Amino acid sequence: MTKIVIKFGGSSVGSIDRIIAAAKIIKKKFDKNNKIIVVVSAMAGKTNELVKQSEKISKNFSKRELDVLLTSGEQVTSALLAGALEEKGVRARSYMSWQIPILTDGDHNNSRIINMHVEKINKYISNKGVAIIPGFQGITKDGEITTIGRGGSDATAVAIAKIFNTDECEIYTDVEGVYSTDPRHFLKAKKINKISYEEMLEMSSLGAKVMQASAVQTAMMYDLPLHVRSTFSDVKGTKIFSSENIDYSKTVTGVTYTKDEAKITLLGVQDKPGVAADIFEPLGKKFINVDMVIQNISPDGKTTDLTFTIKRSDLNKTIKIIKSNKKNVKYKSISSDKKVSKVSIVGAGMITAPGVTYKMFRALAQEKVNILAISTSEIKLSVIINETNTTKAVKKLHTVFNLD
Ligand code: ASP
Ligand code: MG
Repeated sequence: MTKIVIKFGGSSVGSIDRIIAAAKIIKKKFDKNNKIIVVVSAMAGKTNELVKQSEKISKNFSKRELDVLLTSGEQVTSALLAGALEEKGVRARSYMSWQIPILTDGDHNNSRIINMHVEKINKYISNKGVAIIPGFQGITKDGEITTIGRGGSDATAVAIAKIFNTDECEIYTDVEGVYSTDPRHFLKAKKINKISYEEMLEMSSLGAKVMQASAVQTAMMYDLPLHVRSTFSDVKGTKIFSSENIDYSKTVTGVTYTKDEAKITLLGVQDKPGVAADIFEPLGKKFINVDMVIQNISPDGKTTDLTFTIKRSDLNKTIKIIKSNKKNVKYKSISSDKKVSKVSIVGAGMITAPGVTYKMFRALAQEKVNILAISTSEIKLSVIINETNTTKAVKKLHTVFNLD
């Protein structure tokens, strides 16, 4: 008997009809004698709607109450899906995270799963029942309800796969798998059949929205293969597993982009040891994530220019912090640009293929796209460009690296 965890994302349970369709998928697997644990997201749009409602009450809505509010989304789906299964003659029941319990640690709105009890559920699924668990939440040792960060149902599914030692972990979504670029906006996007954890992690962090990055990270850490597939068709999706299982015929696996970047430039910064630390330390302490940093060579040996990128939503806060730090950091002027995007190519094949860098830059030049900042790792190359150039840059790179 195979033990499987199946996760349904918000769009896969976004209406009553879709919940019934999800129940059909589960029943098919159930009839094949599998032991099944299901993890569900809130119905599409529900979590955002609840966040908005809380914001209408207060800009400083209590984090504790926000967790109580947001966890209700998944609770609704769990009950509806359990009902839909019973209606099809499949024994099923929902388990709220405090009933299991799923133990979490850390702050409200941003906790993480540390453990869960398996006995009750193992017994239930061994006795021909389907267990349905709400994703994205847990309970602390003090009995507080918490959530584990937006998109967290993926992380719940992966944690269950690990702790329940399941044979498979399937992530059902509204696209057929992981694509070479965003299939909702680029017609030439192709489904990727196999991808390594490392590549998937880069792709998720760099803008591919199919899977939450921290869930991929956990899967990588414990070597838990994942299968991302569509709720709406039977075709095989994308297998995410260790790179040993993959033959790399292509240098680049995918092109991703994000439009939530901003760039800050400090002109005429003093050029002496400790300045960069003085600039970035207060940002780090305020949890502002600095992504790329470029420092020019100082022509006169006294001052230099420093450019860095951050999340767009952190821009005002960042400028404020730097300005209030004038005592430690001296510079001539500060400027910012929030109309920038980050376009990246990702591929484990890059490790062994020379010339990828120039090929990317040449391709962008041919499209008259100016590069504002660059960052690299072993398996990715990212550039910051003007936001208006995003589409043509992605299209061009997709073609140049043979992904069309
Ligand atoms: N419902 C939560 C969210 O929208 C968790 C999830 O869907 O994974 O962030
Ligand atoms: Mg989701």
